Amino acid sequence: MDDAGIFDVVVLGGGPGGYTAAFRAADLGLSVCLVEQQERLGGVCLNVGCIPSKTLLHAAAVIEEASEIADYGVRFQQPKVDVEKLLGKKNEVIEQLTGGLDGLCKARKITRMRGKGVFKDTTTLTVTGDGKEEDVRFVNAIVATGSYPFVLPGVPEDPRIWDSTDALELASIPKRFLIIGGGIIGLEMAQIYSALGAEITIVEMLEQLIPPADKDLVQPLFLKLKKKYTIMTKTKVTDICPSDSGITVSFEGKKAPEKAEYDAVLVAVGRRPNTADMGFEQVGLNLDERGFLLADEKQRTSVANIYAIGDVIGEPMLAHKATHEGKVAAEVIAGHDASFTPMTIPSVAYTIPEVAWMGLTEKEAKALKIDFDKGKFPWGASGRALSAGASAGVTKVLFDKKSGRIIGAGICGLNAGELIHEAVLALEMGATAEDISLTVHAHPTLAETFAFAAEIVDGSITDVMPPKKK
Ligand code: FAD
Ligand code: NAD
Repeated sequence: MDDAGIFDVVVLGGGPGGYTAAFRAADLGLSVCLVEQQERLGGVCLNVGCIPSKTLLHAAAVIEEASEIADYGVRFQQPKVDVEKLLGKKNEVIEQLTGGLDGLCKARKITRMRGKGVFKDTTTLTVTGDGKEEDVRFVNAIVATGSYPFVLPGVPEDPRIWDSTDALELASIPKRFLIIGGGIIGLEMAQIYSALGAEITIVEMLEQLIPPADKDLVQPLFLKLKKKYTIMTKTKVTDICPSDSGITVSFEGKKAPEKAEYDAVLVAVGRRPNTADMGFEQVGLNLDERGFLLADEKQRTSVANIYAIGDVIGEPMLAHKATHEGKVAAEVIAGHDASFTPMTIPSVAYTIPEVAWMGLTEKEAKALKIDFDKGKFPWGASGRALSAGASAGVTKVLFDKKSGRIIGAGICGLNAGELIHEAVLALEMGATAEDISLTVHAHPTLAETFAFAAEIVDGSITDVMPPKKK
């Protein structure tokens, strides 16, 4: 803050986008004020998103693995789940990470303000919280206000109808659990609740689960889940009616019952940007037709000294997009020639098995009329996958026929979320099928499947029969 009490940068919102922007700005020598309305920093990701869901998913994965190892002649007793202790573990992880952020903030001498920030004009933010109202003056602002769960119109209010934040509370384990939305949140929550004993039904209005990914990539997951869950695709919910005995839901879809009763319903049909009641329109910030704040690749908005990052500016609504954009905003403010222009932002569904993809999907490449070669390696031919009981998986890589370079990849299988990053690096570095084939991968690893998929296109594969020459 200068002598007149003006900050170089005020950051509105302390989620992964906001705290990263604040930290980077401070490291570049700027005076920074970070405004967050919640007690804890970390936003959705650390408090009610990525981290709590992954903690619970870890427990779910161990439960599932312990049961599947019976196939190897190793039998554990049915697990006893102490839900209180599980919640305690989840909270411990959150506390550790958010506490760490507090320490990093202090170490960087960032001024923190707790309260709701509303723009008064293009150089003043009014912060209301802890019973007081204060004006914060700034040269530049970074908006990182994130998103909230979309509520389907007509859904009644009932304590048994949940959004993702409610579901992460584990307040009860419903016997009959309906999940509306077969996207990433729906599937991750299904995994958690199924491991804890709930009977899962998923209703998805589109043709397949995780619609943005290629159907053949999601197939190994789908085949596994459909043995345990009731999955209704191309189905709509037409009515939700709570009563004493449960929640009666009506459906419209070829394979769906007309009505069924559930003990709880999770609505996981996407998220919307937080833009209301913060003075955005008043200061001249423009929104797009879907309600997201408009920002360019330097994170600049329609107001010269106000920048925006993260979920509030659009999809993909992912923590790693928010953090990278946060760094760019801070660097641009500090006078660097930075831009957010990655070749891809990878997506991962932390299901069992995981699904991860990057670059173009096959359906996107076809829509763009790109002539491409495809290498698809089935995990049934991978020694490591077979020995780990993970043969239901696939690795797929696409290469542009003209340039020879990788344009997309997808992996479904154990640790796909870790494995995908080799493909991301290959895309950023402009690798060809030959480059990847000649890169020596340790044996036996799941990472080999990426090299094998490339070898199929390169023509040098020996682990399966090479494709017939055209
Ligand atoms: P947010 O994290 O939403 O933070 C915004 C912050 O701004 C909040 O703390 C809010 O309180 C504050 N705020 C808003 N308005 C004001 C105001 N006027 N004044 C003061 N403070 C304000 N992404 C992944 O990449 N990987 C995952 O595994 C993953 N899992 C998820 C699981 C779930 C259940 C959910 C719901 C989301 C998940 N996401 C995941 C998405 C991820 O959480 C978001 O993309 C990420 O948190 C966005 O970061 P952000 O900084 O833009 O906003
Ligand atoms: P989503 O958009 O990923 O999935 C929502 C699903 O609901 C879609 O498949 C959609 O077709 C379906 N749907 C929409 N309306 C419906 C209706 N009326 N009836 C039935 N189905 C309907 O949204 P989400 O799963 O809620 O996740 C929200 C955001 O959070 C996403 O942007 C996601 O990227 C992010 N997220 C990421 C992770 C991760 O990276 N692992 C985890 C959780 C959330």
